[in-house]
Amino acid sequence: MSAYDHVMVAVDLSAEAKQVADKAARLVRSGGRLSLVHVLQPLDSIYLGESYGATAAQFQKIQDEMMIQAKETLKELAVEYGCAEEHQYLLVGNPAKEIHKLADSHNADVVVIGSHGRHGLGLLLGSTANAVLHGAGCDVLAVRIKE
Ligand code: AMP
Repeated sequence: MSAYDHVMVAVDLSAEAKQVADKAARLVRSGGRLSLVHVLQPLDSIYLGESYGATAAQFQKIQDEMMIQAKETLKELAVEYGCAEEHQYLLVGNPAKEIHKLADSHNADVVVIGSHGRHGLGLLLGSTANAVLHGAGCDVLAVRIKE
């Protein structure tokens, strides 16, 4: 039996996400539940629209398209890892904050994230990985990403 009943995997939907999901799936091989979460960052938190002359409507359209694409990619991953639809979470906001909130509200026992293992103090974990680790109310497993 696994030490964890509820394993929550945070995926950035890049090609590396499978390395993280693979490790997480192993944790529930002998029992437990796997859930997948991706957090879409609001476009206006990444780009300053006005400086490119984009209208609010154009931004909304791009955001909607990103949401559709993210949902599809998340679903593909979920199918591959046998994760039921009700355990797939696509959220909008700050990744670390949303992951913390979701893990708390859904009683996750461990959050699994990827780590690029960059060298140097500040770069030991990537920025999202670092932010998830600090402030998490449950265990956090950082999976070393093989480049
Ligand atoms: P980073 O810190 O950006 O190198 O990302 C490290 C890990 O944080 C990724 O492998 C994912 O596990 C997680 N992560 C990064 N961005 C997101 C996101 N937008 N949604 C969910 N998890 C993420």
